[in-house]
Amino acid sequence: MLIVQKFGGSSLADAERLRHVARLCLQRHQMEQELVVVVSAMGDTTDILNSKAHEINGRPPLREMDALMTTGEQQCAALLVMSMEELGLKAVSLTGWQAGILTDGSFGDSDIKLIAPGRIEEELSLGRIPVVTGFQGICAKGDLTTLGRGGSDTTAVALAAALEAEACEIFTDVEGIYTADPRIIPEAVKLDTIDFRDMLALAKAGSQVLHEKSVELAMANGIELELLSSFSGERGTRLKLLRDSERPDFAGITGKAAEGRMSIGGKMADAAALSRAVMLLAAEGIEVLSGTIAENCISLKTKTDLFLPAINLLHREFLLG
Ligand code: ASP
Ligand code: MG
Repeated sequence: MLIVQKFGGSSLADAERLRHVARLCLQRHQMEQELVVVVSAMGDTTDILNSKAHEINGRPPLREMDALMTTGEQQCAALLVMSMEELGLKAVSLTGWQAGILTDGSFGDSDIKLIAPGRIEEELSLGRIPVVTGFQGICAKGDLTTLGRGGSDTTAVALAAALEAEACEIFTDVEGIYTADPRIIPEAVKLDTIDFRDMLALAKAGSQVLHEKSVELAMANGIELELLSSFSGERGTRLKLLRDSERPDFAGITGKAAEGRMSIGGKMADAAALSRAVMLLAAEGIEVLSGTIAENCISLKTKTDLFLPAINLLHREFLLG
């Protein structure tokens, strides 16, 4: 049974966390599972590289930005392999191009066109765990390109599809997917499962939990995902296509405080839900400045200073109600 496991930057922030991830891989390997690991850059390496570039050039060329940004994942993959080897695991780091990840040529926001997994399969047959750099690939011209911020999730799902993996696990620093960001709404509830369509609606509306393209790709290829914490050892949230009867009317709410914007995702997020939201807020003296409807999603805007009471009220009414 082949599993793809992806570890985000916070799960790999320093040497101790790298060792912890190496131990998690060892445990999985001992369960006689074939593993392919995908890594992000360590901690906030990508942000640091980004600011370094802007210190040097106010408008850095996109090609060179990608050449720079891809180094974060490369460092991380090599260090994780070193940490795995310390535990006696056989592993090998592979960059996007070594792993056969072919992209279109749009620097900074490219799509994966094709994966030629020959090298990964060869390493697996030699009993080595491939540790693949997320977020990057190579275009037809031979240049390195990145998939957009947060793109390692998409690398993991694309590899799971290409390798026909049994499961794809996305490890992060939160316990799973919640009805809202628990840092903003303490009453938010962790979900056992969420439908792809609801997660996609929330990702499009700005939720940062999973890269939007990764959800699209998982849905198109029928790859069930699990989002879980690398720290706690608890089960996380499963993402899959739910039957209509299992799918809740509303799955979650996400928002951007600085813009006073909030969005509710779910199969009943329609015109009727939008007018209900407007009336609920009006009853509390909160004026809605604008409202829009998209597939499985309603969005509305309030004044920024009313964002917190507004999103808390909508969460209570639509997600807990
Ligand atoms: N390191 C990249 C970023 O910070 C990609 C990722 O983490 O998924 O956006
Ligand atoms: Mg991410």
